[in-house]
Amino acid sequence: MKLPFFLARKFVAAETVEKTLPVAAALRATGLSTTLDLLGEYISDPKLATQAKDSYISLVKAIHSSGGAIDKNISIKLSMLGQKIDESFCLDNLYEVLQVAKETNTFVRLDMEGTDVTESTVSLFERVHPEYPENVGIVLQAYLKRTGDDIARMCELKARVRLCKGAYKEPAHLAFQDMPTIRERYLEHMETLITKGRFPGIATHDDILIGAVKQYVSQNGIASDRFEFQMLFGIRTDTQQSIAAEGFGMRVYVPFGDMWYPYFSRRLRERKENVWFVLSNMFRK
Ligand SMILES: Cc1cc2nc3c(=O)[nH]c(=O)nc-3n(C[C@H](O)[C@H](O)[C@H](O)COP(=O)(O)OP(=O)(O)OC[C@H]3O[C@@H](n4cnc5c(N)ncnc54)[C@H](O)[C@@H]3O)c2cc1C
Repeated sequence: MKLPFFLARKFVAAETVEKTLPVAAALRATGLSTTLDLLGEYISDPKLATQAKDSYISLVKAIHSSGGAIDKNISIKLSMLGQKIDESFCLDNLYEVLQVAKETNTFVRLDMEGTDVTESTVSLFERVHPEYPENVGIVLQAYLKRTGDDIARMCELKARVRLCKGAYKEPAHLAFQDMPTIRERYLEHMETLITKGRFPGIATHDDILIGAVKQYVSQNGIASDRFEFQMLFGIRTDTQQSIAAEGFGMRVYVPFGDMWYPYFSRRLRERKENVWFVLSNMFRK
């Protein structure tokens, strides 16, 4: 049974690309950058992975046709392109998306998913990055114990990294479980990425981290065009505007599409206030 979309609308822009493009254009008009993400993950049918690849390509073309009203920046999940079916099939799909991205000067971020695909995602990224250094970036998760090594791999490549805490449920031997340690690791990785990496995306809604990043860059004379903050659509929208007003880059990740349920459930799991918000909207409906 499919849940009604109104439950997810705080976190998901719309179910179709046609309804999402104006949302992204409106955000951009307020001075925010955007990343569009067609939702969906862990596809096991090759036909669906091919369809997903075609949808990503159509999205890149639709953004390109907007004549600059919408940022040429999308996020994709490799598990949508067949990563769990066959890595070489996934790689072929990724090449096709990146070729269109290159032709249209679009940036494609590879989202990071569960630890079952971390090494595969980093390795596939390393395969395509040399050919598309301006068009592809990756996400790394501060809660994973391996991330220090992945950051070193990415700094070596001068690849663009979005740093987030990590949204999946992972076992204690692979991921830190407590917030103070995750924040500590986040800040360590942030410093490495800002000093040795290339234009990192600091993706968090956490005031402690945001404050520490601002303090670090101010104390070390790091210009605000060396990195950007990133937040999710519908979360802390006032803070998004105030960070942009302070002169920092602020990018909003705008998810859309009818396969929104896994993304929506991760947002509910990470913050109990989000559950209350959805419940209160249900009763208002
Ligand atoms: C742009 C972007 C892209 C992402 N991409 C990925 C990805 O590819 N892979 C992945 O695993 N995860 C991804 N994530 C999710 C990420 O890993 C975290 O699960 C998610 O961002 C929650 O962590 P947080 O640091 O934002 O804050 P949280 O841990 O949710 O919150 C920490 C603190 O922040 C403050 N806070 C948070 N929300 C609010 C609010 N609404 N109002 C007031 N205070 C608030 C509170 O003080 C709270 O205690 C992404 C996140 C962002 C922002």
